[in-house]
Amino acid sequence: MATTPTKTEAPPLRPTLGSKQISLRGIPKLENVDEIKATFIRHVHADLAKDRNVATTNDYYLALAHTVRDHVVSKWIRTQQTYYNTDPKRVYYLSLEYYMGRSLCNTMVNLGIATESEEAMYQLGLNIEEMEESEEDAGLGNGGLGRLAACFLDSMATLNLPAYGYGIRYEYGIFKQQIRDGYQVELPDSWLKRGNPWEIARPEYMLPVQFYGRSELGPDGKHKWVGTQTVMALPYDSPIPGYKTNTVNTMRLWSARSPNDFDLSYFNHGDYIKAVIDRNLAENISRVLYPNDNFFEGKELRLKQEYFMVSATLQDIVRRYKAATFGSRELSRKSFDLFPEKVAIQLNDTHPSLAIPELMRILVDLEGCTWEYAWKICTATFGYTNHTVLPEALERWHGVALRFPGDHDRLRRMSLIEEDGDKRVNMANLSIVNMANLSIVGSHAINGVARIHTEIIKNSIFRDFFEFTPEKFQNKTNGITPRRWLLVSNAALADLITERIGEKWSLDLRHLHKLEQYADDPDLQRAFFDVKQSNKQRLATLIKEQYKIEINVDSIFDCHVKRIHEYKRQLLNALHIITLYNRIKENPSGDFVPRTVFIGGKAAPGYYMAKMIIKLICSIAEVVNNDPIVGNRLKVVFLENYRVSLAERVIPATDLSEQISTAGTEASGTGNMKFMLNGALTIGTMDGANVEMSEEVGAENMFIFGLNVDEVEALAKAGYDPNKYYHANRELKHALDQIGNGYFSATNRDLFVHVVDSLLKHGDRYMLLADYASYVETQDRVAVEFRNRKLWMRKCILNVAASGKFSSDRTIQEYAADIWKAEPVNVVL
Ligand SMILES: *Cc1c(COP(=O)(O)O)cnc(C)c1O
Repeated sequence: MATTPTKTEAPPLRPTLGSKQISLRGIPKLENVDEIKATFIRHVHADLAKDRNVATTNDYYLALAHTVRDHVVSKWIRTQQTYYNTDPKRVYYLSLEYYMGRSLCNTMVNLGIATESEEAMYQLGLNIEEMEESEEDAGLGNGGLGRLAACFLDSMATLNLPAYGYGIRYEYGIFKQQIRDGYQVELPDSWLKRGNPWEIARPEYMLPVQFYGRSELGPDGKHKWVGTQTVMALPYDSPIPGYKTNTVNTMRLWSARSPNDFDLSYFNHGDYIKAVIDRNLAENISRVLYPNDNFFEGKELRLKQEYFMVSATLQDIVRRYKAATFGSRELSRKSFDLFPEKVAIQLNDTHPSLAIPELMRILVDLEGCTWEYAWKICTATFGYTNHTVLPEALERWHGVALRFPGDHDRLRRMSLIEEDGDKRVNMANLSIVNMANLSIVGSHAINGVARIHTEIIKNSIFRDFFEFTPEKFQNKTNGITPRRWLLVSNAALADLITERIGEKWSLDLRHLHKLEQYADDPDLQRAFFDVKQSNKQRLATLIKEQYKIEINVDSIFDCHVKRIHEYKRQLLNALHIITLYNRIKENPSGDFVPRTVFIGGKAAPGYYMAKMIIKLICSIAEVVNNDPIVGNRLKVVFLENYRVSLAERVIPATDLSEQISTAGTEASGTGNMKFMLNGALTIGTMDGANVEMSEEVGAENMFIFGLNVDEVEALAKAGYDPNKYYHANRELKHALDQIGNGYFSATNRDLFVHVVDSLLKHGDRYMLLADYASYVETQDRVAVEFRNRKLWMRKCILNVAASGKFSSDRTIQEYAADIWKAEPVNVVL
């Protein structure tokens, strides 16, 4: 029989809790603490059947997660009942990615039971931080796009919108990155192996999804889809609790299951074993997340994932609409007239854009609507968010046997079906479906994700469509949730802010403006500094434990964390590091401002150049970190396995945020916003949301450098010659020569030849050389200003004060008002 966790001496309340009157996480109510303790102990016993002697940290994590889940379910049920009873317009967010990270702390904070839980665990003699660290990240995303979906779910629930997130429950999320001998190695992310306490399987709502087959005209004149293969979609629901509200929305992720009669032919032929083995084939659909960021790889399995998600989701949406509407007196007949008034579907990039033809198929083939009627319903229902202008990222599916009859140039450009350039007769069926074009014609609203990005799509890739239907195009600048990215990840700064300006900011981030008046207040500057310093110390300790690198916490923590991609220009950062190194070597007794450069991020497994850039950074780190002349004045750390939970550690500890993409390439960026909210200063180009950040805080409070979009375009047009910059700048030439001649790769001197060639011989597509001088000059200014602590802290405070625009609450309010026409629903317990 299991026994109660040992209650030796009950430790006293921690003194800090009593004195933290103003903590946004709340003051613990003792009766709640007792209740949490009791529930927790019950879960340790009943769910895990363990006692203190054998329970592991993960067991305690699971017991606490179940305790927290108990608090969420009553609100969750009430919310769903309320939606059922009032039948409001519902928002459906469709995304192939949800980069959720960990849920425990976030759920506790949103429910307002964080301090109580902390106190309860403390009284039981358990370390809640260790338990939190035991949770696996839900890494069902690659980077910004997937994390945006996660922030949006938090904001939609917080704003009481009747919303659902639909996606795929990948068995393996984004791969685990290991660095071995300086190279990235990918390992499978089996995040479900110890169980997922946040999800509930709903086998009763399982739905069939059809693949392959053909269309046949039935005797009733209707088209029938026959000869298909069926895969079942099993939904798993996770609660999405809003902050300081009763609303708990649902994220529904589909898992592929084989139907009972999967490949009956084998059973019939007596090959029982093969039949059972082949059942697994169907389940491969939801096996693994494709690890590409901003890159389209036209694989059949990926297309199947997209259709699988879309088909199951639309069946669910149509079922819910029919259940609510067909029984009501609002409609005199069973029609879809009210569909767009009850349903808004947002497409997170083109990945779920098959929803458009699929809803057409449902309405026309299954529900008997006319094509024209169905099309009107579709366009009134869908909204499409574009996330990139990089041509290699645009989804263009090959091999679809359809042809577009137009011959006019413009029509060809706007066509959903691109004709093959090669017009040989036997190629006539080889054509390409452009999913962006499909998404545009099938939606009533198309949005970019930062003002500059929206202008670019209107003027370049979607120009023809913009001229045709300008009213469809709008901007929705991205945002981040201040719950995860401040309250959860930087509680000390959150408390400090609340101490000064009250707690309204957590629900309306514009209130941070009130900090502006204190930018020169020495007490606040000191307090901001102390918080940053302790966050830096905490990160330094982690680095010391993991990499045995000693870090100078008084150095500039200069962080460049995001997916590794040529357009994000980690290589430009590397050129700067080498330049700093060379300067120290040339003047060993010189006066240098100490700096620690952190670079982290995953490269797509098939992206050769990105992987070489990782190897180069690790090679530079090896040389720099082990050079006694350099000492603690320069250190380079490659942060292994950058992910949401690591971002939560790194961002609060950062002094300088690197947002240095070539102007015109980063649609918005959201990393930039997280750093700004946490009091880092930004070095960046006039790209994506950096433009709006500089507008909010004033360009004098950021470190803006480099070519702007117009200048990039003009230079490209005039004929860009990187070699001109190479020969004109001694430090640049020195750094590039060192990379090329093996200075950082003594055992293989040619190792980085391709990296240098990409710049000097293959055109330097992202214009690193053109921006190098400006970048280095600006970095020099960063160093000078960092030494002036008053000036630096003033700018930190002003950045936090001006970051209010970049709350995803603001973004979601704009989507709700301008695209979804959705209203909040008040949930009463
Ligand atoms: C926010 C975030 C991103 C996106 O960062 P960008 O700098 O906007 O590319 C990527 N990965 C993780 C883990 C994040 O939290």
